Amino acid sequence: MAQYAQALLDDVRNAVDIVDLVGRFVNLRKAGVNWKGLCPFHGEKTPSFMVNPKKGIFHCFGCGVGGDVFGFLMRQDRLSFPEAVRSLAKTAGIALPEEGARSGDSGREELIRIVDLAWRFYDDTLWRPAGDRARAYLEQRGIDADVAKRFGLGYAPEGWDGLLTFMRSQKVTDDALVTAGLAVQRENRSGVYDRFRGRLLFPIRDLQGRVVAFGGRGFGDEQPKYLNSPETPLYTKGNLLYAADIARPTIQTKNRALLVEGYVDCLMAHQHGFTETVAALGTSFTAAQLALLRRYCDEVVTFFDADAAGQKAAERAEELLEPTSGGMAWAVNRSGSFEGGGTFRVKVALLPAGHDPDTFLRESGAPAFAERIGAARSLLAYALDRAVVDPDGATGARARTTAFARVAVMLAKVADAQEAAALSREAAAKLGVDATQLWIEAQRLQSSLRTPPARPQTAPAPSSTPPVERDLVTLLLRSVEARAGLLAILDETDDLGHPPLRAIVAALKRRPDAPAESLMTDLETDEARSVLSSLLVEDRESLDVQVSIEQFQRRLERSQRLRRAREVSQTIAETQAKTGVAAPMHTELRTLHEESAVVYGITGGVAQSLEHGTPGSPRSSDE
Ligand SMILES: [Zn+2]
Repeated sequence: MAQYAQALLDDVRNAVDIVDLVGRFVNLRKAGVNWKGLCPFHGEKTPSFMVNPKKGIFHCFGCGVGGDVFGFLMRQDRLSFPEAVRSLAKTAGIALPEEGARSGDSGREELIRIVDLAWRFYDDTLWRPAGDRARAYLEQRGIDADVAKRFGLGYAPEGWDGLLTFMRSQKVTDDALVTAGLAVQRENRSGVYDRFRGRLLFPIRDLQGRVVAFGGRGFGDEQPKYLNSPETPLYTKGNLLYAADIARPTIQTKNRALLVEGYVDCLMAHQHGFTETVAALGTSFTAAQLALLRRYCDEVVTFFDADAAGQKAAERAEELLEPTSGGMAWAVNRSGSFEGGGTFRVKVALLPAGHDPDTFLRESGAPAFAERIGAARSLLAYALDRAVVDPDGATGARARTTAFARVAVMLAKVADAQEAAALSREAAAKLGVDATQLWIEAQRLQSSLRTPPARPQTAPAPSSTPPVERDLVTLLLRSVEARAGLLAILDETDDLGHPPLRAIVAALKRRPDAPAESLMTDLETDEARSVLSSLLVEDRESLDVQVSIEQFQRRLERSQRLRRAREVSQTIAETQAKTGVAAPMHTELRTLHEESAVVYGITGGVAQSLEHGTPGSPRSSDE
């Protein structure tokens, strides 16, 4: 990792506010000196992801992942270390030395640069005479120019090589354009051509606001009406939400997101003041998208046309309740407590038949739209309505019995007990059955349906570190005096049994003056970084540094004498075996025996090593 000077890395790390950086991806709430939220790296219901702003460190006590701002961005954006450094340095306005070959890069950074260049070209074209047609279309759709600008809309000119020509002038290769999804390889002959031609373009950004893909809308009979970027190393369908970067602040303040289908629906909602709106970039939202929103808010409202609502809601609910698709019950419900708790609710707002948010807003205005949102019902309630009714229209006792079974199965899949209880009361009233009976049946089914939750990929739990070694390293990380008093007598290979702790001490010895968090970039393994981050975010009682140093000094000396004694005994035994002589003693042997005896005298012959001790602070009673 030592590609950049340590001082430069420290400058970047100190310049980046980790709460701000992580907060772009996770809703963080203050908890003591730390901030906490739901881990973006594994699925969880209760937050175990901690961020320490003072040290610039994050650590997840659920999956064990931890590190500094560089580590966070590498993991979140799948960047190489140099890419993460460059990205953060750029944000912080810190100049990096020019470099030559960038081997080991994922290539994502270069792709981002290319897509950004393309976006500038398209954006520029829209507001020039060449973009007349696209601007006329915007006007016809009622999209204000300032909204179009806020969303960075662009225009891909007619013709086969508008973008190509521009990009070649910028020294971007045709191959790179194909990889970025902006150009298409000709069939059966060489050469490439522009993917987007004569279309209004909606740039799709990631959570950091960087353009990673485009959606293109034709104006007339062009087929298809919508043409999107293909999947590229930057863009995976179903993982992003359109406008999430723009909507995030409002989603967090309102604790609610509005989820629409189309780009224009989204723009129109923002134009009417509903700036918490995002679009699904497809006809239906995915579990990954809901998981993303869930990090920021407790409620999502989606919109269905009244005609299709029952059908669509039932389909969505089925998908979300499907336990096989990655334990989907959690996607609908957030059980457990998140500082006061709360359920993640997916609601449906009904629009009149034939309407989508765009047409409805233009026809009826913002207050009517807000009213529809206010009247939104739980997605599950719609699914329940369908479960209650017989699909063949049958009535009578038999139909009621099967409806009862269908409803019970559905209720059994609802993870949140409160919501399930409310739904079962509603269903019981509709079915004309006893609510308790329905509830009991659902509970019975639930215990048989419930599959154990998948265990997250766990790094070795930091708690598995030997407590005394852990205390010692914590002390060294926190106190300069401890480093001065202990590092010289500490032999990490012999005194420490835990490899990550050894690595941390080795790093400390190389840079004894470094702030603890700065060591993050010295460590080679994820495991070591995870242990270091866990030690740094831990909110522990401050030890009496001076007393601790003395205790550890004695402990270290003793354990080192012990090892020496063992070595001495072993040498004696080996010598005896070799010479076959037990007596009379050779002078050297006698010396060794005496030395050994001295050592055993000190330790009392009791085998003790550094690993023995009670968790927490070093014992004082054994001195
Ligand atoms: Zn985690």
